[in-house]
Amino acid sequence: MENYRKNKIVEILHMLKYMGFDKVDSSLLKISPFEDLREEVRVCKKCELHKNRTNAVFGKGPVDASIMIIGEAPGKDEDIKRIPFVGRAGKKLFEMFSAAGIDENDVFITNVVKCRPPGNRNPEPVEMKRCRPYLLKQIEIIQPEVIVLLGNIALSLVTGTPSGITKMRGKSFEYLSYKAIPTFHPAYVLRNPGSEKIVVEDFKKVQRSIS
Ligand code: URA
Ligand code: SF4
Repeated sequence: MENYRKNKIVEILHMLKYMGFDKVDSSLLKISPFEDLREEVRVCKKCELHKNRTNAVFGKGPVDASIMIIGEAPGKDEDIKRIPFVGRAGKKLFEMFSAAGIDENDVFITNVVKCRPPGNRNPEPVEMKRCRPYLLKQIEIIQPEVIVLLGNIALSLVTGTPSGITKMRGKSFEYLSYKAIPTFHPAYVLRNPGSEKIVVEDFKKVQRSIS
């Protein structure tokens, strides 16, 4: 990360010199911590998942989003396109946002792990543990008004075990001093269409909780 920052600063200095500036206010050289983090994730090899990925998927959305959505892991489409939730589950997720009146521009979407597990298996606890500091840093930078945990894997960030979504969904609780609301994962909704209405209701609650 440090090298990336230095190279970027040198690049900017060269550009400014070329443009005719000979004195530069140092505040101009601040690079956003969010972009630093994105670069760190892009080249990360902290767990085995880096071996099979095409791309790490950092997340999508504005850095000042009010709602942070946490899914499980990138799938095949996400790994190729480097964007979370671009496959079938993503289409369903955005449909449900829209039904609940959630504006996509208010949302930052990411996953518990940033690299695709082979064959879309669940991420292993050790992979989640290694990747967790990136998620925590994203939360710290974004400071969302509400965090939505999609499915059991995301919920396990809080509970430590990948179960309990049926009981806990729709209930809000505190996670790292943020308001968190778990609900079913959109892949579950695709398999169980009857649950769609429930998730839309949970999303309405999310929408109501932002100012
Ligand atoms: N499912 C997830 O949990 N995350 C994605 O990015 C795509 C599908
Ligand atoms: Fe790094 Fe996370 Fe990807 Fe593992 S899943 S290589 S910890 S970015």
